[in-house]
Formats: sequence, C-alpha cells, structure tokens
Amino acid sequence: MSAKKQRLVVVGNGMIGMRTVEEALKRAPGRYDITVFGAEPHPNYNRILLSSVLAGEKTLEDIVSHPLAWYAERGVTLVAGDPVEAIDPAAPAALSVRAVSHSFAARKALDAVDLDVPAGSFTALLGLNGAGKTTLVSLITRLHDSHSGSIRVLGFDVRRESAAALSRLGVVFQARTLDLDLSLRENLLYHAALHGIGRRALSVMVTRSAMSRKVQTPGRFRPGRGGASGFDPVARISRS
Ligand SMILES: Cc1cc2nc3c(=O)[nH]c(=O)nc-3n(C[C@H](O)[C@H](O)[C@H](O)COP(=O)(O)OP(=O)(O)OC[C@H]3O[C@@H](n4cnc5c(N)ncnc54)[C@H](O)[C@@H]3O)c2cc1C
Repeated sequence: MSAKKQRLVVVGNGMIGMRTVEEALKRAPGRYDITVFGAEPHPNYNRILLSSVLAGEKTLEDIVSHPLAWYAERGVTLVAGDPVEAIDPAAPAALSVRAVSHSFAARKALDAVDLDVPAGSFTALLGLNGAGKTTLVSLITRLHDSHSGSIRVLGFDVRRESAAALSRLGVVFQARTLDLDLSLRENLLYHAALHGIGRRALSVMVTRSAMSRKVQTPGRFRPGRGGASGFDPVARISRS
C-alpha cells in the first residue's frame, strides 16, 4: 500500500508559484498532493512576455508556459479564476477518523483506520465487499457505537458531542427517500423544518443548488412524475 501523500496548497498560479511546484515535483516525486489556486482564469503563462500580448504581437495562448495538460499529466489540481480570500489553517477537517478499529464478535472489520476529508473536498471510499466501508460509515453516522479511536465531524466528536456532530452531517441513502406525494420544494421545506432551518435560509441554499429552477416552482415538479424524476438523486443530495 502506498504512503499517504502530504497536501501542498500553492496560492498564486504565477511564475514563482509554478516554479515552486516544478521543484517540489522534481525533488520529491509522489510526495505531495498538490493544489494550485490562481486568481486569473488561465493556466500559468510567462508574465515577462505579457508586454508582447498587450502590444498585440502575441496571444495569451502563445505565452502559456504550463498548459492545462501539464497539470493533468502530473496530477496537479488547478483551481483557476478563484482568488483565495482567506487561509484558516486551524479550520477542522470535515471528517477526521483516527485509529478506529471495530470488531463483530471475533471478526475484525476495521483495524486502526485513519481518514481525513478536508472541508470543501470530495472523497470516494472504494473497496471490495467486506473491506469495512459500511462499518466505517455506520460508525461515523452512529448506527454502531465506536469504542476505539476517534471520529470527528467538523471538529465534533461523534461519541462525546454526538448531537453537534450529527447535526452537521448529511446522509444520502441508496434507496429513494423522497415523499412522492410532495413536490420537490415541499420535500425540502419539510426536511428543513425538521432540522430547524427557516424558509429564508432554505431559499438561499436552494438558489445555490443544482436544482434551483425546479424547486423554485411551487408544486410543479413532483419527484414521482416523469419530468422531474431525473432530479431525484440531485434532490436527495441537496436535501442532505
Ligand atoms: C507587463 C509586464 C511585463 C514584465 N516584463 C518583465 C521583463 O521583461 N523582465 C522581467 O524580469 N520581469 C518582467 N515582469 C515582471 C515579472 O513578470 C514578475 O517579476 C514575475 O511575474 C513575478 O512572479 P510572481 O510569481 O511573484 O508573480 P506573478 O507572476 O505575478 O504571479 C502571481 C500570481 O498570483 C495570483 N494571485 C494573486 N493573489 C492571489 C490570490 N489571493 N489567490 C489566488 N491567486 C492569486 C495572480 O493572479 C498571479 O497569477 C513584467 C511584468 C509585467 C506585468
């Protein structure tokens, strides 16, 4: 099994930032999981040659030093056109699992598992049947009690601060769990009310979600009717 990579985040997709990335890749191949944030919506270009672009002698494409393929080939994630506004190194991980073991009678399902999911990131858990995926999710969601190690959701321990931890956790089940008698909007309103989320706050969340148009139309789109059925997974993810 390969060693876990360290995360390296570079702010500034410019000449010095990318020189640093090149050096990190050269000196320690495979050591870093690199993400570069750039305020400009381009891959890195040779800024020294920018004068010739401004003079109309070259195009920006002509002076690109690191095309998008360069990042992709090296597994470097580029987040372009998104200026970093603040850095909070103390912010807790969305999910932090430390040294968690779990057994069912004599059978050990998990053995000292560590897992970090940084806030704002996407992680998929893959494994063979019996690898312990369901057990881990059951411990995170408190379906099973965990007796060793620690599990934290946004900094809250799921055993000792379970209400605070679970209120910050959304779960999407495999089976359809929308109420087919209600519209998508009504489904969300109902679920939000159960979680103490007011209509105004919900409206802001919906505007940002992928199904904004469907939900803003009161009563029209029902999960069970043809037109909106494709939205069912999106609706369930947004609701969570
Ligand atoms: C028109 C022009 C002509 C030049 N000609 C020459 C020359 O002939 N010879 C020479 O030696 N030098 C020249 N320079 C200077 C040279 O380009 C700079 O010295 C060099 O680019 C500095 O490198 P850098 O990485 O520090 O900054 P930059 O190359 O400017 O890179 C900084 C990057 O960080 C990004 N950034 C800033 N804030 C954030 C944030 N909050 N979040 C995310 N990203 C952010 C910026 O968008 C930028 O892409 C020229 C500069 C310009 C503008």
